[in-house]
Amino acid sequence: MTEKQPIYILPESTERTMGKDAQRNNILAAKLVADAVKTTLGPKGMDKMLVDAIGEITVTNDGVSILEKMEIEHPAAKMMVEIAKTQESEVGDGTTTAVMLAGKLLENAEKLLDLKIHPTIITKGYSLAAEKAKEFLNELSIEASLERKDILKYVVKTAMTGKGAEVVKEKFADIIVDAISQIQDNGEVDLGNIKILKNKSNSVENTELIKGIIIDKERALIDMPKKVEGAKIGLISDALEMKSLGGESKISITSPQQFEEFSMMEERILKDIVEKVESSGANVIFCQKGIDDVVQYYLAKKGIYACRRVPKSDIESLARACGGRIVSNLNELTSEELGKAEVVEEIRKSDEGMTYVRGCENPKALTIMVYAGSEHVSDEMERALKDGLGDIATVIKDKKIVPGAGAIEIELSRKLREFANSLSGREQLAVNEFASALEFIPSTLAENAGLDPIDVLTELKSKHDNGEKLFGINIFTNNVEDVLREGIIEPAKIKSQAISSATEVSTMILRIDDVLASKGSSSPSGTGQGIGMPGMD
Ligand code: ADP
Ligand code: MG
Repeated sequence: MTEKQPIYILPESTERTMGKDAQRNNILAAKLVADAVKTTLGPKGMDKMLVDAIGEITVTNDGVSILEKMEIEHPAAKMMVEIAKTQESEVGDGTTTAVMLAGKLLENAEKLLDLKIHPTIITKGYSLAAEKAKEFLNELSIEASLERKDILKYVVKTAMTGKGAEVVKEKFADIIVDAISQIQDNGEVDLGNIKILKNKSNSVENTELIKGIIIDKERALIDMPKKVEGAKIGLISDALEMKSLGGESKISITSPQQFEEFSMMEERILKDIVEKVESSGANVIFCQKGIDDVVQYYLAKKGIYACRRVPKSDIESLARACGGRIVSNLNELTSEELGKAEVVEEIRKSDEGMTYVRGCENPKALTIMVYAGSEHVSDEMERALKDGLGDIATVIKDKKIVPGAGAIEIELSRKLREFANSLSGREQLAVNEFASALEFIPSTLAENAGLDPIDVLTELKSKHDNGEKLFGINIFTNNVEDVLREGIIEPAKIKSQAISSATEVSTMILRIDDVLASKGSSSPSGTGQGIGMPGMD
């Protein structure tokens, strides 16, 4: 009898996991990712110290930073990291929440799988629940606008609670709300117009909002004034050199007399450049290209501050900050084109000089100067500022806020359970599991603060059953109370985005029943036994 030959349809190097194994493996990996960030959630969340391959250290509490630095390899786990990134780019905050929600949705789905409920029923139920949850969220959210700076500041302070920036959150809240109110344009906010610079020369409390721009350039010549008050600023994209007037002409010189004539002509042209600058009324010049030595010399003589080879992006920021227009041809430079600032000044720290343009009148581009003694601190401060900026930009655009501290999650969960009762069939079970996943947020907030999560959940639920929609677990007072009144406020968009992306990734993972991994791929431990996270498996 001849033995049957096995048939191979895949290269031998492909590792294949199928059915239940593939599913459980993916769920496990996703849960591990959620577990990894869980302890950082909320005001009493802990920080993580991450050390990369070359020994670089990051200490952070920020979900997306942690996951990005973890060098995760498992494909399903990588999908979880993607949610954090989407959350970060869409709303700038709420990354831990989104990842935890996805992890819990998958964990709860596993219970349903154990009951032999088919994944398609679970994913259908989850999608239904997510739609409903967003509908409820919309109904429950509260209007907020730019005029309510007090509310906006609470939003920032909530975002910063428990971060490294805790001690300076009042100050940061002022800076962020002022910065965004200043640069917004009919509710549109381009965060690219807020530059964050870091400086070690001072301590964090002195972090300041500069109504202007700081350029990493010193003045072209030491004889130029170091400081100009009442600055009138010319922004020039072309070079202030010979060729800027004449183009690429070739001159042949045959006699000493001709040489002299040529030199005089050159001198005249260069002087002419300086005269044009002067007659426009400019006392400060930022030039995107080079400035001839002779021009520099005469500019200095006239008391004009000039920087050369300023990057295009800086010239553009300067135009937005001080209201000037960028000219390419010097003939176009008139007083109309000049920008204005109270002071332009070169400030030297150790060996390097930078040009500070401050006191712009109605700046549409700003700088936040973060002071901190060490790089780890200033990096964490920058992340905190970015979270806060992201939150406020979101609120200004979306105009909707919700109570934080688990209040909104509990209310959504309660409403989803009500909705589940109206469903027949097995989707009802999935909707209920979705509702219970939402409760994981307040219960983790409580747990991370050393409170009993079950007690807290029970109290929260009973309050919400009695119509106290704004009750959450305030981690400062350890009380279940009206958290909106306590100023624990978040943008509604954080929550809707978290719900959308968590649902998306968990349903996607649930639908996978076959993992084909090429061994040559970048994820050698991607399937099978390894989870591929340092210290996790
Ligand atoms: P994320 O990455 O999801 O933003 P955070 O660590 O920033 O995670 O924690 C955010 C959570 O902390 C939100 O649910 C928010 O409502 C909650 N929170 C903020 N301040 C308080 C507070 N004083 N009491 C309880 N919860 C709070
Ligand atoms: Mg946050």
